[in-house]
Amino acid sequence: VVYRDRGVLRVLGVEDGDAVTAPRMNRLVMHHTGGAHRPNTTDLRAYHRVTDGTGRVHAGKFAVEANAPGRIQRGQHAAHTLNLNTGSIGAAIAAMGEGQWATPSASKWFPTATQIDGFLMDCAKLCEEWHIPVQRETCLSHAEVQITLRVTQRNKWDFDYPFAFIKTNTRDPVAIGDELRQEIRRIIQGLPAQQARPVPPMARPTLRQGATGAHVRDLQRALKVTVDGGFGPATRAAVVAFQRRNNLLPDGVVGAMTWTALGLG
Ligand SMILES: [Zn+2]
Repeated sequence: VVYRDRGVLRVLGVEDGDAVTAPRMNRLVMHHTGGAHRPNTTDLRAYHRVTDGTGRVHAGKFAVEANAPGRIQRGQHAAHTLNLNTGSIGAAIAAMGEGQWATPSASKWFPTATQIDGFLMDCAKLCEEWHIPVQRETCLSHAEVQITLRVTQRNKWDFDYPFAFIKTNTRDPVAIGDELRQEIRRIIQGLPAQQARPVPPMARPTLRQGATGAHVRDLQRALKVTVDGGFGPATRAAVVAFQRRNNLLPDGVVGAMTWTALGLG
């Protein structure tokens, strides 16, 4: 839906009617495809970018913007992370086909060193371009999603195994993620000035019981409860129920994760 506002064309958000002027992304999720060293069409549909075994980066079918809050549409975005695609960039290495969890390094398609170099360079550029902080909550591997963001995944092990320069010998995804982030930060420091996107619009405020105003009304509309602009016990109960259904921490507080899950992030 498009309408004119003071002569400027703006695109309406799908659910809340908020004007969205610039797409905003909240996080980068790093994956392996579970396939060969070359991406196939399924991979290119599932991820925004796939780095092949030679380190070359392939653009996926969907642009990063297709997953932006307020723009994402069913079947028209990169579906790379269960219940966490809104606001999430999905970048993958084409690797680990026929891989066995118990013996990752025996995989025929174990990631190559050049591949990891190309992949992390691309991740660094994406974080720069989209203003994504290189932190545990915002730049993380698929295997870290359930641990750090508490969004349930189904036995995802990308990346819980050491590869390339990773020094830790554990299968702890956060320890491995910390080493990946350190490398991404190091690359960013050495990057020439990037063409960063315009600073995105302000994120939604964190709301809890007692809050009032337009953001509360948007929340109530999305939850299909009485729209009175006051965050009372009934709204809180609806928030908790929504959080439970969406595998979020059911604390009744509407922060970035809940806004995003509501499609209003
Ligand atoms: Zn994954």
